[in-house]
Amino acid sequence: MTASIAPVAVVGAGWAGIAAAVELARGGYAPIVFDSAPAPGGRARALPITLAGAGLELDNGQHLMLGAYSACLDLIETVRAGAPAAMRRVRLRLESTDGLRLVPWNLPAPYHLAAGLLAARAMTIRERLALARMLLRLRRAGWQARPGETVTQMLERLGQPASLRRRLWDPLAIAALNTDSNQACAQTFANVLRDSLGAPRAASDFVLAEPDLTRLLPEPAGRWLVAHDATLHMRTTVRAMEPGDDGWVLETTRGAFAARAVVLALPPYAATRLLDRSARAAQSHLPTFDALERFRYDSIATVYLAWKPGQPVSLPRWIMLEERPEDRGWGQWLFDRGERSGSRIAAVVVSARGRHDAISPLHLAQGIARQVRAQLATPEVADARTVVDKRATFRCTPDRPRLRPDAFIAAELLAGRPGTPYARLALAGDYAHPRYPATLESAVRSGIEAARLVMR
Ligand SMILES: Cc1cc2nc3c(=O)[nH]c(=O)nc-3n(C[C@H](O)[C@H](O)[C@H](O)COP(=O)(O)OP(=O)(O)OC[C@H]3O[C@@H](n4cnc5c(N)ncnc54)[C@H](O)[C@@H]3O)c2cc1C
Repeated sequence: MTASIAPVAVVGAGWAGIAAAVELARGGYAPIVFDSAPAPGGRARALPITLAGAGLELDNGQHLMLGAYSACLDLIETVRAGAPAAMRRVRLRLESTDGLRLVPWNLPAPYHLAAGLLAARAMTIRERLALARMLLRLRRAGWQARPGETVTQMLERLGQPASLRRRLWDPLAIAALNTDSNQACAQTFANVLRDSLGAPRAASDFVLAEPDLTRLLPEPAGRWLVAHDATLHMRTTVRAMEPGDDGWVLETTRGAFAARAVVLALPPYAATRLLDRSARAAQSHLPTFDALERFRYDSIATVYLAWKPGQPVSLPRWIMLEERPEDRGWGQWLFDRGERSGSRIAAVVVSARGRHDAISPLHLAQGIARQVRAQLATPEVADARTVVDKRATFRCTPDRPRLRPDAFIAAELLAGRPGTPYARLALAGDYAHPRYPATLESAVRSGIEAARLVMR
């Protein structure tokens, strides 16, 4: 098969691949983007879901961004080309069904949090002081946890009462890291705290896609890329990548493509499949290859609830639910998704391994519908549907591999081989930004970094 010439290929059109392609196009390159899916967006895009008899476009799981997601917000700003951004930005508000309420005030940091703590509801004086002391101690320590420490160990070391861990810290850590606190990486959690609660107030704002993720970034980005000379090959799986005479040859379901350089914007398990033969053949690449293989993954289940069309339902914008697995109350967070086709819709999230893996989607939906009715005194739901992403994120443990976009390039330069195809292969994806958990922000930052590397 003859290969057509593509200067730079981007494999994967999730948020990492989109960010890389936009950066390449801004640099005057005309990237060619491949993705197996029918539309860009990867894990963070809307999917067709039937709920209460209506065909709806709902996100593949509830995604939340923070004001601190500067790379995501800049990217959205770039591609929306003057159109209103499809999102809602609101002040952080931590509230739970058991009455806890903590809202940072509109003051410069750290007074925003101090005032919020003073006015907090359903927190004892001891809990307020413990929380303030912990953030102060972390700040003084430069937001450094101890090497290998888990979130639970750090919270215990910093004197957090069990009640506060259960009601506030554990739900926050699970939401941020999708890993149980007793296994989750304390340093990564400290990084998230530094960039949200420890930063100026706007950094902790919640940013929600409205009406959905696809309209927030992937759709406008697709249009922007085409207008900037990029080519998008959707429904095109890259089956293998082999080093070629002048870069890489990609074997795809649409034929073979030659690329001088590649941004590989896939989750680690998918990246290793493509690189298998050539990476194993080259000894110097083995550490990177092994690291890609050592990632482990955790699922997230999202239960979408719909009430009867026209039925009045009073819901908070979002709220921490009281998790009661013994009573089939598996839900952790509820988000009000507004009205669709006349029905009120809510998304309830269950994160972290082991919490829902053994429960059938139907059972999960029924239990959570009952939990929401009991804890929020809502009318009975008309329909409930579960969406499970089995490999939603990598497991964020202290010993997870740390990879950067230049992992292959650096190995080649160190070995004195700047001209080989591996010196033109950059990695991108939420796992390739080692300081953060798997987030949209780490995906976007890694994509930008990968594009800059191959342009260099
Ligand atoms: C349910 C759920 C909830 C989440 N909640 C949040 C949240 O609240 N906040 C947050 O910041 N993050 C959240 N995340 C994480 C976030 O979605 C991911 O970190 C981010 O989308 C990863 O983007 P990516 O580009 O690295 O990878 P992906 O989105 O996985 O993109 C990879 C792309 O590669 C394509 N592909 C794979 N193999 C091939 C191949 N061989 N050839 C061609 N194409 C291929 C796939 O189709 C996909 O489009 C959540 C994730 C899930 C699943």
